[in-house]
Order: sequence, then C-alpha cells, then structure tokens
Amino acid sequence: MPEFDSDLQKYDRQLAKGFKSLTFSAELESEFRSYFQTRNVVKQRGAIIVGILLLLLLIPLDMSHLQGEILDFYLIARAWITIPILVVALIFTFREGFRRYFSVFSFFIITFIGITTNIQVVYGLQAGVYAPYEGAMLLIMVAFFLGGMYFRQSLTCIVIIALSYLILSEIYVGPYPTKLHQYFFIFATCLIGGVSAYTLEYQVRTSFLQRGALKALAKTDPLTGLYNRGALNQKLTHLVEYAFREKKPITLMLVDVDFFKNFNDLYGHIKGDQCLIRVASALARNCQRPLDFVGRYGGEEFLLMWFDAAPNEARSFAEKTKRSVDQLNFPHDASEISNIVTLSGGMVTGIPARPDQAEAIVHQADQSLYRAKDSGRNRIIIQDLGDENNIAHIVK
Ligand code: GH3
Ligand code: MG
Ligand code: MG
Repeated sequence: MPEFDSDLQKYDRQLAKGFKSLTFSAELESEFRSYFQTRNVVKQRGAIIVGILLLLLLIPLDMSHLQGEILDFYLIARAWITIPILVVALIFTFREGFRRYFSVFSFFIITFIGITTNIQVVYGLQAGVYAPYEGAMLLIMVAFFLGGMYFRQSLTCIVIIALSYLILSEIYVGPYPTKLHQYFFIFATCLIGGVSAYTLEYQVRTSFLQRGALKALAKTDPLTGLYNRGALNQKLTHLVEYAFREKKPITLMLVDVDFFKNFNDLYGHIKGDQCLIRVASALARNCQRPLDFVGRYGGEEFLLMWFDAAPNEARSFAEKTKRSVDQLNFPHDASEISNIVTLSGGMVTGIPARPDQAEAIVHQADQSLYRAKDSGRNRIIIQDLGDENNIAHIVK
C-alpha cells in the first residue's frame, strides 16, 4: 500500500466510511457540491419550466372556486410573485454564477408556494368551499425530486410546509370528516417521498465517489500512489503552458535510485517495492504547494515539479529532496557508492521560452541526470533551462 495520501484513497476512504448523514469530509463535500450543481443545470431549467406550466394551468382552475379577498391574495401570491420569480430564475440558470444558489432559491420559493397554498386551502375549508389539499402532496414531490435541493434542504422545506398546514388547519378550521385522512395522506407522501429522496441522494453520492475513484485510478501509479506517467505528462503540458503565459519559472527534476538493480538482486523484488514506496513518500513531502506535483516517471525514476520558485529556492528544493531520501537511511549493501539508498538527479529551472516546451524540458533534465550518474551518482545537477552546456550548481 502506498504511504502517500493519494486522490484515490480520498474516495476509497469515504466509500468505506459511509455517509449515512449524507455529508462527506469537507474537501469532498465541496467537490461533490460543484458536481451536483453542474449536473443539475438541465434538471433545474426543466423543473422551472414544469413549475411555471403547472402554475399557469392551475390558475384558471383555482380562480373558478375562489372569490373576494382570498382570490386577491391568491392572484398576488401566484401571478405577481411566484411566476415572475420563476421566470427570472429561469433566465439566471443561463448564468454560471447562479448555479450554486439554485438549491437555496428552490428552498425559499417552494416553501413560499407551500405556505401560500396552505393559506388558500385553509381559507377554503373555513368558508366551506372545496379546498384541493392534494396540491400539498404534489408540492412535497416537487420539493423532494424536482427542486434540485439536497435531501436535507428538501426535508426542512417539507417539514415547514406540512407543519404550517397542520397549524393553520388546527387554528382556523374546526373538525371535519376527512381531516384525519388528509393528515394521514400528507404524512404518507412525506414518508414515501422522503425515503425515496434519501435513497436517491445516497446513490448519487455513491456514484460520485466511484467516478472520482475511477478517474483517480487512471492517474495513479498503483505501487506508490503517486501520479503515473500519463498524468505527469498531462499536468506537465498544462503547467508549462501556464508558466509560459504568466512568465513564471518552473523547476523540474528527474531523480533515479542509484544501483537499484543491485538492490533487487540482493534483497529481492518485494523489498525493492517497499523501498520505492518509502522513497516515493519522502519525495512527495517536498512538493506540497498547490501547483507542485510529483509522480513516478517509470521504474525507479521519479519526476518532481515546482511552480514559481526563485533560483536559490530551486536549489534548496534539490537539497531538501536529496536529504529527505538520505534520511530514510534505507540499507543498500549492494550499492557501490554508499551503504544506504541514494538518488541521482537532474534539475532544470527557468521560464519556458515556448508553450509547447514540456518534452524539451524533460529531455534536458534527463541529460542532467545522466551527467549526475556519469560523474559518480548520489548528486543532483542543476541547470538553467535552455542552457544545456553549463552546470549552474551541483548538490551532493
Ligand atoms: P543506476 O545506478 O545507473 O541507476 O543503476 P540501476 O540499477 O538503478 O538502474 P537500471 O536501469 O539498470 O535498473 C533499474 C532497476 O529497477 C531494474 C528493475 O528491476 C528495477 N525496478 C523497476 N521497477 C521496479 C518495481 O516496481 N519494483 C522493483 N522492486 N524494482 C523495480
Ligand atoms: Mg533508471
Ligand atoms: Mg537507477
């Protein structure tokens, strides 16, 4: 098992730990929320359009049995408040910045529709007019499945709607024959909708974690947990383009374990694997700023990358990296230059001259690494980017 805390482990750990309360660890939760919001855009538009259509269809039906004050109240709440808000919301779904507020918006608008519907129903019951309380059940389903809310939000929204109905009806309406039945059906709708919505969000969260784990797996070296060659190439290409645009220096280092074939021959492959895992995690500790990264370039070779490091800082990165592996004190009696595991390295540092220079930079670091091998191993040769002939510094 890799010692390095890889992206893959983050998803696996959450899957193993479970999430019955429908929340992840802070980092995963914010990643999940942006996934949820992006995934929901089409659903949000659909939900708003369906909402507007249903309300428009309901208006003539409701108007046919309402009159006086309650009709005025109804028209203000529906035609002048709810529908215009929904239309504005529909326009806003085309703006990316609005996405993360959608569930909160849904919460308020559905709660508002719920409470105004309750007022209308209770008013009707009070006046002895037929009051379509079934609307509340429809709204519960909308809140659970169409509003684009997280389960906790929809549950809160529904509890408010159901309680407000209960309170209004207990205060303003006396006993009537179907009252308990109404309560029962509303409660049953909440229960069925709630259980289904909980299960649905649990499944969405599970597939988010599985998808994340699969994506991370494709980028991860299974032995060390570091980025694999493919991921390294991809990250490198992007970072070089970015550094070129921003005119910022990058520092790339290729390192290779000295006499590792001898190590395997003496201690065996399993011990060799353990050694690579320890080396990998020591290296990873040296690349921790957000744009820095480290990966396994192949076999016993690793690539480290630092973004925007000044020349003397780059040198100290080389020193620290070398020291971190020396300090492992990993015995290597088959090494011809030491009795512990050591590294040779080639480091190149500078501002890229072209956006497509990634391959050339790796090539120059590789040449430096060969020079480090040729000149006795257990050292890092530092060169300025593009200046293949001169050695800027040697770290021993
Ligand atoms: P040098 O000092 O010149 O770098 O010599 P070296 O022996 O380290 O280099 P060479 O390229 O000859 O051998 C690299 C060895 O690394 C050979 C290979 O078996 C071993 N190796 C590569 N990947 C793994 C791995 O995943 N596990 C183990 N245990 N060994 C590996
Ligand atoms: Mg090698
Ligand atoms: Mg080697």
